[in-house]
Amino acid sequence: MNKVNNSSYLQASIYLVLYVIAGELSIQLGTINPGNMAIIWLASGIGLFAILQLQRLGIVVVLLGSLIVNTPHLFRGDWHPQISQILLSAMIFSCIDTLQSILAAKSYLYLEKTHKKSMWTQPSLLPKIWLHVCLIPALITMPLFIILMLSRGLIPSDFFSIILRATILLLADTSGLLMLTPLYPYIRAGTLFKEFCRAFWYLVAILPPIYINFFILDHVLALTMPIMIIIAVKLRMAATNFGLLIITQLGVILTVQGHGGWAEHHLVTSLFQIQIFVFSITLALQYLAQAQAQISQHREELEFEVQLRTESLAALNAELTTLATTDELTRLPNRREWQLKASQAILQARRYEQALSIVMIDVDHFKHVNDHYGHLTGDLVLKTIATICQQNIRGPDSVARWGGEEFVILLPETDQTQAIIVAEKIRQAVAQFQHSSLGHETFNVTVSLGITPLLAGDITLDELLSRADQAMYHAKEAGRNCIRSSQALSSNYLQHKT
Ligand code: GH3
Ligand code: MG
Ligand code: MG
Repeated sequence: MNKVNNSSYLQASIYLVLYVIAGELSIQLGTINPGNMAIIWLASGIGLFAILQLQRLGIVVVLLGSLIVNTPHLFRGDWHPQISQILLSAMIFSCIDTLQSILAAKSYLYLEKTHKKSMWTQPSLLPKIWLHVCLIPALITMPLFIILMLSRGLIPSDFFSIILRATILLLADTSGLLMLTPLYPYIRAGTLFKEFCRAFWYLVAILPPIYINFFILDHVLALTMPIMIIIAVKLRMAATNFGLLIITQLGVILTVQGHGGWAEHHLVTSLFQIQIFVFSITLALQYLAQAQAQISQHREELEFEVQLRTESLAALNAELTTLATTDELTRLPNRREWQLKASQAILQARRYEQALSIVMIDVDHFKHVNDHYGHLTGDLVLKTIATICQQNIRGPDSVARWGGEEFVILLPETDQTQAIIVAEKIRQAVAQFQHSSLGHETFNVTVSLGITPLLAGDITLDELLSRADQAMYHAKEAGRNCIRSSQALSSNYLQHKT
């Protein structure tokens, strides 16, 4: 709690110093006298920040800051009232300044609440911010200032002077808020300094035209505009406002010194001209920066969407590939997939003169299993046999569901004798497995297996398949639950029947 308080007081002190500096700077750069009216009243923006960040403490900061800034200048006026009168006027001035900051902060908070995160991302909301946060608070306090100044005799009381000064006052306060309000999100995020560093060289690029304007040639200030447009498009809102602050402050100095495109015979009109310029380019450049921010946000969202869709398409593609190559029931490769693999394996075996064998498997009396235990149990039996086959083959081998209750195995680099060993392992494993029906009856099934090795004259897979199929039918004829090979047998493995 203490820590929070300490840091709040520290922040309050910083804001107070900033307020006084901004106020004094605005007064020193260019004021209209009598009345000591600044051209761009930056303190209004600092007051907004202070109240947004520190709430009530911020109000105290603005009250004090305004008092500190305004009081000394009231002593310097053409009027010579009593000290108590000056102090009273200064207090009323600071109350009006504070009211303006409170109104701006309230509007800001209201807009932030209504529009949440989109407040600073939609250019269409910018006019609302300009109107509610920057213009209306200044519009409300302007008559109060004018009445106060009139009552103290600080400004001429003819109609034209009142209207001119009211407009100047309104533009000064509004511009101060306009140029600083968009920086608030960066202050809160703690990225203001980072943004300044990012924009540093661009901001430096603004200076030569102003320098030339100052010392060499008038009307060169217009050259800052292309740079500002680049800043708005490339670096967005924070940098745009840094640039605007530099141009307007130096522009005011230029005008006061009698240089630049706005300098006219009458200083008040010159300063009024520069106010109008500042006001217009601020709106234009901020809108450009915001529009650009929205475009890049849309682009990011679009890229994200495209990425999401690409990923889901890839996933869908993978799923489709699985569907196209896998048998749904057993999750083994399907016939087409296996045939592709087997054809390639045959080509390779022929090229490198390697052995290769094929085993065809058919479940014995499977119709009976279905009839007796039901199709669901039959399906389970097929799944189990698929698993048994997979467990009894090696990595390069490949088992597939050939169709119905038939399976086929590709055994690369495997001659007939080795193929018989694999087939026998599978035959035994299947025969020994105890299946259970949905009605909890247990039963065994057997398989008949036909083997064929790759022969010298084999050209296509079909030749091997047809021999394996025939061998399997021989196994059926031999009484089932046994293995037969298409070739003459040198081994007595094939005589087995358990
Ligand atoms: P054998 O091969 O020993 O001569 O007799 P069998 O009863 O197995 O003969 P057949 O080839 O005529 O019968 C195969 C049966 O397999 C017929 C069919 O209903 C059944 N079947 C085929 N595919 C499936 C399947 O995906 N699930 C189930 N449950 N049964 C299937
Ligand atoms: Mg069959
Ligand atoms: Mg069968």
